[in-house]
Amino acid sequence: MKKTMTTTAGNPISDNQNSMTAGDRGPILMQDYQLIEKLAHQNRERIPERVVHAKGSGAFGELEITHDISAFTKAKVLQKGEKTRLLLRFSTVAGEMGAADAERDVRGFALKFYTKEGNWDLVGNNTPVFFIRDPQKFPDFIHTQKRHPQSNLRSNTAAWDFWSLSPESLHQVTILMSDRGIPLSYRHVNGYGSHTYSLINNDNERFWVKFHFKTKQGIKTLTNEEAAKVIANDRESNQRDLFENIENKNYPQWDFQIQIMSEEDANQASFNPFDLTKVWPHSDYPMIDVGVMTLNENPKNYFNEIEQSSFSPSNIVPGISFSPDKMLQARILSYPDAHRYRVGTHYESLPVNRPIVDVNTYHAAGSMNYEEKEVTNAYYEPNSFDGASQDASYSEPSLEITGNANRYDHNVNNDNYSQVKDLFNLMSDYQKEQLFNNIAESMGGVPNEIIQRQLAHFEKVSPDYSNGVKKALDK
Ligand code: NDP
Repeated sequence: MKKTMTTTAGNPISDNQNSMTAGDRGPILMQDYQLIEKLAHQNRERIPERVVHAKGSGAFGELEITHDISAFTKAKVLQKGEKTRLLLRFSTVAGEMGAADAERDVRGFALKFYTKEGNWDLVGNNTPVFFIRDPQKFPDFIHTQKRHPQSNLRSNTAAWDFWSLSPESLHQVTILMSDRGIPLSYRHVNGYGSHTYSLINNDNERFWVKFHFKTKQGIKTLTNEEAAKVIANDRESNQRDLFENIENKNYPQWDFQIQIMSEEDANQASFNPFDLTKVWPHSDYPMIDVGVMTLNENPKNYFNEIEQSSFSPSNIVPGISFSPDKMLQARILSYPDAHRYRVGTHYESLPVNRPIVDVNTYHAAGSMNYEEKEVTNAYYEPNSFDGASQDASYSEPSLEITGNANRYDHNVNNDNYSQVKDLFNLMSDYQKEQLFNNIAESMGGVPNEIIQRQLAHFEKVSPDYSNGVKKALDK
């Protein structure tokens, strides 16, 4: 039988086409609550878009662990044979919700694993490094990627001014301006946890770790010209590609690998292993196979499951934890803070964010708290009424920290160039040509003084790099 339409309070609606008016010609009566409810809901159909990573696409899938890495971690989600449901949200960083997909930008690669020990979120990108290493610079950096406060236009000048004054950005800038800066689709990107995290094994030993997801579809990219053509015809090229491939059961897959560094090695490494602008060279820290990740289920409701999905690197499980990486430390605060503002106090209760395990907190009430939990006398902790309590068996090994509290200049005694040189040297001539042209194109309208400052950084990587860009600028 056809259902009767109702108000949100469940009251039957007799007419959804005609407003209640005084006479045929109106005006409308204030008692037309249905109309008021409809208009009021329409005004509230959006939540604030993410300040960064606003434009995104996502899908559900599964992580299967195929190799034994129990020597490094006790995390149940990482034990051989384990299969865990997951959500992966891809995104561009700078563009607003309506931005075109095929733009030159870093791609977000945010994972939520619904594990037997609560949610594990790995909120990464399609690049192993980032533009900055100190979160003090993050809001300023993002201002340069967003719109000029007066013209409301994106500004090449702001981007290159900031980058040329922040030499730690050179590694990420080089990747962004390389052929990989515009992926053909989300299926054709690698994902990197980017930060250094830690793994803890059953003997309570800690190992530092980098997480990698390598696309089985292969890296495929677009040139600026190809991307312009794509955008002219389709602003949603990556959303369409992901959705249609999953609908057609052509499920994308990634190999899941890790790199491991012991605590002793970290103290002796020639670079700071907690610096987000650096990779761990594969030759020193070889890739270890862990498993395979598959995306096999489209969301049923984009707003509910993708727009409201809320990822945070603060969500870790026993056996996986943080590191001293300064950028990670800041994101542990800023991501949940963003969600409380953007989605609401109880954002983790929403179906897409809710863990599959029981949640036993003493957080009280708050807006939209709809959980129907039995109320007991144990509404604070410690209590004498059998309420949930701490369990010391989950304690992590202590981490020795040394040094004086101070503001340390992170560009003093820090090599911003060698790893960029390694990357530059492994590019083919064709890739280098693309790099030079992409940089030159993006420097359109940038004052010469800023260009010269940036060329000096390229020069320190290799004279071939700066000369190549100079030539492309002169074309
Ligand atoms: P390797 O030769 O062992 O690794 C090179 C890596 O570079 C490969 O993973 C390759 O990815 C990737 N790569 C190739 N072209 C590009 C590009 N245009 N943009 C980004 N990545 C690219 O060398 P090292 O481990 O010593 O690293 C050398 C340099 O490679 C680093 O300085 C860094 O810039 C880059 N890199 C290193 C990674 C690491 O974790 N060590 C990860 C990614 C990049 P693929 O296998 O998909 O071809």
